[in-house]
Amino acid sequence: MIAVSSLPVFHYPPAASSFENIADAAQPLSRNRRNIGEPAKYWPQDSTIKIAMYDYDMDDPYVSAVKKAASEWLPHINLKFEFVPGEEGDVRITQNINNEEGGSSAIGTKALDMSPASPTMSLPRDHTHPRFKYVVMHEFGHMLGAHHAHQHPDANIPWDMDKVYEGYNRIAGLDRKGVQKNVLPLPRSDQYDFLPYDGDSLMHYEISPHLTHGGWGQSENWSLSDGDIAWAKKAYPKAEAATS
Ligand SMILES: [Zn+2]
Repeated sequence: MIAVSSLPVFHYPPAASSFENIADAAQPLSRNRRNIGEPAKYWPQDSTIKIAMYDYDMDDPYVSAVKKAASEWLPHINLKFEFVPGEEGDVRITQNINNEEGGSSAIGTKALDMSPASPTMSLPRDHTHPRFKYVVMHEFGHMLGAHHAHQHPDANIPWDMDKVYEGYNRIAGLDRKGVQKNVLPLPRSDQYDFLPYDGDSLMHYEISPHLTHGGWGQSENWSLSDGDIAWAKKAYPKAEAATS
């Protein structure tokens, strides 16, 4: 039995439509945010990551959809992805048994510290859902070593704390510790590489203005932003890019 709940890092983009009245979020959006990586958990440069797809619960169209979405990162990094059927890999992907739209992933090489019997990433079951590609790309961002963009200590999101804890518990099932780990600012530590970016990161949750003071909000972006690409190129620079 796959123990999805044993994932030590639960990174989960809650469904955008989950927060009520999200459509009225036509508020001016702050652009003062940053991308975040954790270099100690980056994979070796120019390496190939072996990615196991548990073949007993994935058909070919599903595997193809995952590969297609994940490959969006490849033009910007010096790593290769080797997808293999079965249970043996640096990264082991299973389908999310708990939530139709969510996913989770270990951060970078944290996957190597996990039990070989456990998945290191879970993805939604429905690969035909319009949000599927985004969730795959977001989780692969974590797998490459990226943290959530909204957790930068300079993000200055004016959270309404009571509503944050209640909202993410109700929508995403996160307890207080889960909210602190996935939503609230990270410590200002040398452990992290904080980069400037454009505010439209794949690694930024949608932020409902119902969870903040002053109507602060952020919509969900379903493609790699300039900031995501800048982070990827810095974390895993291609040789040709390094000389230009
Ligand atoms: Zn995440």
